Amino acid sequence: MKKQLVLFLYLAVCSTALSQSIVSNLTINIKERAANDSLPRFCTVNIEQNLVFEGYTTDTVNLQLNNVSMFMIAVKSFCFPHLAVEARAATEINYRPLSNFNFDGKTLSFVLPDPNSHVKIIYEHLALFNLAHLYAGALYFQAYMHDQQSWLFSCLGMRMDNAVFFVPEDCYLFVNKPYIKSDDTAIVNLSSARDIEFSFYVAKKDYYQCDTIADIFSTMYLYFLKDIAASSDSTYAIPIEKLNSVLVERKESLHTRTQKIADFFNSKEHKFFYIIDANLDNEGVVWGRMHRITKKDFLILMDTSMWNTTSVGHEIIHAYIPYEYNPPKNDSTHYFFNESIVEYLANYFFYEKQSLPTVYEDIIRKYYERENKITSIFKIDDNRIDASTGEGTARIVYLKTPYIIHKFAEMIGGDEYFVELLSEFYQQSFEKKQISLHDMEYFFRSKSVTNEQWSWFITNL
Ligand SMILES: [Zn+2]
Repeated sequence: MKKQLVLFLYLAVCSTALSQSIVSNLTINIKERAANDSLPRFCTVNIEQNLVFEGYTTDTVNLQLNNVSMFMIAVKSFCFPHLAVEARAATEINYRPLSNFNFDGKTLSFVLPDPNSHVKIIYEHLALFNLAHLYAGALYFQAYMHDQQSWLFSCLGMRMDNAVFFVPEDCYLFVNKPYIKSDDTAIVNLSSARDIEFSFYVAKKDYYQCDTIADIFSTMYLYFLKDIAASSDSTYAIPIEKLNSVLVERKESLHTRTQKIADFFNSKEHKFFYIIDANLDNEGVVWGRMHRITKKDFLILMDTSMWNTTSVGHEIIHAYIPYEYNPPKNDSTHYFFNESIVEYLANYFFYEKQSLPTVYEDIIRKYYERENKITSIFKIDDNRIDASTGEGTARIVYLKTPYIIHKFAEMIGGDEYFVELLSEFYQQSFEKKQISLHDMEYFFRSKSVTNEQWSWFITNL
């Protein structure tokens, strides 16, 4: 009897859970802003989020923006001007404006007219990210990054379906998901994605020169900004007449180094890189990022100032290591494998070998310029840097740890020998589909690395 009752309750719970659903579709309309507007260089991005509720028993719906800064909450009417919510019951034809919705900069709440309702959230969204960048290049580039600024509403259990972009002819659209392109639309199938991982970027074609480098290993689509370009280590503008020679140099260097990286990983699969030059310099903190679109397509956004340095190499190396092979985020060795070794390899492949000792002297000097509260790569939870103070765990990840790896390499026979061994270790790990410190120890100990050497390495990391 008791058993039956429990079973009955269980079935009842299951059936309500099954019959209640929210499906979301997105329409993203990118338009050139009118010339007399106060921000003429931005495009406007008009978003319509269509939601279909089925069997939704809770009256008030609360939808969240997943990542919001305090600043974004403070300027919500600026980031989300003209926000409106419209709804209709499934049996009705016409949508009616909902006047009783509330948006506090993070949560959007409204009352459903019916458990089976169709809802439209209509808004223009301004890419907050660009506001910090005053260089010309940044203004032609709009970044809608899922982890930096939320631009769509979601809630637990919401299923994403499709996103349709309408793109003007004079704009490039870059999306971190595969999409099907027709004349002026791009359709992204989001059914297998988590909504929070959806980012897109818009660049004005006029300001970019597109080049392609192709060989049997990879195809690189390079989108260089025409009007500003960087010298090797800073964002000084290069006069346009010099730009072509700079581009040739950069292309060659990228090409040869990427071949070496492919060799290191013994990669046989052809990869496609979409590398976009965007001025992302934010108060001296320059950066790049890589999105995996598919297993062989990679979108790399790169600060103009970083094209000639290790940073573009760093993102390319990421592309060769399947993310799922690395230790997960809650593992203490996550940042060691996911970032520090990648940075070490980028230094190795992108600097001349004879300059490496000097490079690492500079790196460790930079690290000791500030006091570091935490010093071990195994004891950190993030890899951040504070733009105003220059402090943060990023210093351990990208400065100290690659330095210790280099010192260990010197101890066991030099960087070249160490990289040879590391290449073998990675190829073995790829076969196992798993990269671990335990395996790394076992491997290096099998290559005559002594107990003392290995424990020096681990203690100093
Ligand atoms: Zn990285």
